[in-house]
Amino acid sequence: MEQYVLETSDLTKTYGNYSAVDGVSLKVPQCSIYGFLGANGAGKSTTMKMVLGLIKPDRGSIRVFGRPFPQERTRILRRVGALIESPSYYGHLTGYQNLRIVAKLMDVSESQIMETLEWVRLENQADKKVKHYSLGMKQRLGIAMAIVHRPKLLILDEPTNGLDPSGIQEIRSFIKSIPEKFGMTVLISSHLLHEIEQIAEHVGIIHEGQLIYQDTLASLQEKGGDLPLERIFLEMTGQGRSL
Ligand code: ATP
Repeated sequence: MEQYVLETSDLTKTYGNYSAVDGVSLKVPQCSIYGFLGANGAGKSTTMKMVLGLIKPDRGSIRVFGRPFPQERTRILRRVGALIESPSYYGHLTGYQNLRIVAKLMDVSESQIMETLEWVRLENQADKKVKHYSLGMKQRLGIAMAIVHRPKLLILDEPTNGLDPSGIQEIRSFIKSIPEKFGMTVLISSHLLHEIEQIAEHVGIIHEGQLIYQDTLASLQEKGGDLPLERIFLEMTGQGRSL
């Protein structure tokens, strides 16, 4: 039986009569990049927040590293890193000082802080106040804060949102290097197929709260035959008819 780093079963969250997430069973294999794809409002952030214990599910179960969540919450979250929405930082402090605050909470050594700043290529900007950082630099600091304690699972919610093309390229190439370089599994969400296509090997497509596809990107391509992936995605989510 394959061991999944993250496995949810029938995960459901309802707001009033509206099912934001409806029976989602994710299977995220070890040391992969899993692209969680869906249009705005499809239920990506709600799913990720449930996995991190930030929202309580109405139904369903979650296992991380094979352990039940939230029953083993502390033990699990020590090995998870996340960047959900915009990173939270103190603008009047430097990048280094911000990272140090997180690192202290996690009992991380000084050398690991410096190494992390180098990984995200902020070592030359470490002493600059974060309020003077570009958006791309802030996102890289957010990723540094998420990985400084060397988690085994990294959860990134639309990390390239709002960045310019060079910022997107920088973050993308860094994320792609993560599984091999650091032995981490990455769950990354996006509303853009071409984003996921360039980063992930596995893909889960969520549409109106339901997981309508989950497999490798290669299988999705095979399934669609000669159709471009974009077209397959639009057909699956019912948007193809308007083309
Ligand atoms: P986006 O990229 O736009 O954030 P998403 O796929 O992450 O999209 P979610 O943020 O998970 O989508 O939202 C899923 C649905 O649940 C949306 O229709 C949203 O309006 C609704 N929703 C989310 N949070 C709440 C809330 N606290 N109360 C009511 N509805 C909510």
